[in-house]
Amino acid sequence: MIIVMRPQASKDEINAVVDRLAEIGCEAHVSAGQTRTVIGAVGDHLVIQTLPWEAMAGVERAVPVLKSFRFVSRDFQAEDTVIDVDGTSIGGGSFTVVAGPCAVESSDQLMRTAEAVKKAGARILRGDAFKPRTSPYAFQGLGEEGLQLLAEAREEFELPFVAEVLDSRDVALVSSYADILRIGTRNMSNYTLLAEVGRQPKPVMLKRGFTATLEEWLNAAEYVYKEGNHQIFLVERGIRTFETAARNTLDITAVPLIKSMSHLPIMVDPSHSGGRRELVAPLARAAIAVGADGIMVDVHPAPDTAKVDGAQALLPTEFAELMDTIRSMASVLGYHL
Ligand code: PEP
Ligand code: MN
Repeated sequence: MIIVMRPQASKDEINAVVDRLAEIGCEAHVSAGQTRTVIGAVGDHLVIQTLPWEAMAGVERAVPVLKSFRFVSRDFQAEDTVIDVDGTSIGGGSFTVVAGPCAVESSDQLMRTAEAVKKAGARILRGDAFKPRTSPYAFQGLGEEGLQLLAEAREEFELPFVAEVLDSRDVALVSSYADILRIGTRNMSNYTLLAEVGRQPKPVMLKRGFTATLEEWLNAAEYVYKEGNHQIFLVERGIRTFETAARNTLDITAVPLIKSMSHLPIMVDPSHSGGRRELVAPLARAAIAVGADGIMVDVHPAPDTAKVDGAQALLPTEFAELMDTIRSMASVLGYHL
């Protein structure tokens, strides 16, 4: 049950609802929004539903939770979640561009890419030290050395960075370096990993599982939220369908649907969805047009030599051209960049 308080509800009226829930053995999750407070009641729903919540002072309405997720739903929080990463906003009317190499390969490769994406206007650097590869013989990433290089790039170019964490045992390590932890498509349903990132303080970028429904995806976000970390944003990165012409099928419909179902920001990854360089700009334009909160783009100074995902990486010059397009679209659509 979600108990929505009236905009003018007093502290005492809010506390009375919280106390009443405690009396019947239920937990109250209080979310104080800009206009009104919303209380999520967790416990035996049969008991909760029988009480006349709407008769209590200050209560506007009591809404039964019909969905399997609750705290990440719009019913629980009407206002958009806005995440601050070192002065850069994600959500709430900003269009945030994350860019960088798929994997950190060397200091030279990373520094050249970071310099170029910063100059072109990216606000967050991407680059992985741990790579989830289909083949166990493929390059798996530089591990902690990769995180150290990312931290050097952050210092040099004043760019916070996001890096993937693959294993619960590495959460503390990645969290000690990265500004944002990423859960990749293959781990979206790894519930112990989700809970672990929910117990550390850095924001979490949660990519959609390539076979996950929107409801399954939001339930994955709920696992993180429930542990206390509410700084979560989603990335649509393409799903597997009967169509094999592109690496994945970008589900652009997911963006407005997620916006109506959840208050969490949602970005689009035009690189891992299309899987080909020439698809990145058209899919990025679709993302901003459909109302996404940002994009994450693979960029590499020499894609032909890339150890991972070279076919989808933009050259720095191509990325700069894409940023020019994004800037003009952002001004027409009323986004802050
Ligand atoms: C990535 O962003 O580098 C990545 C591995 O993406 P995904 O988990 O979406 O495949
Ligand atoms: Mn990749």
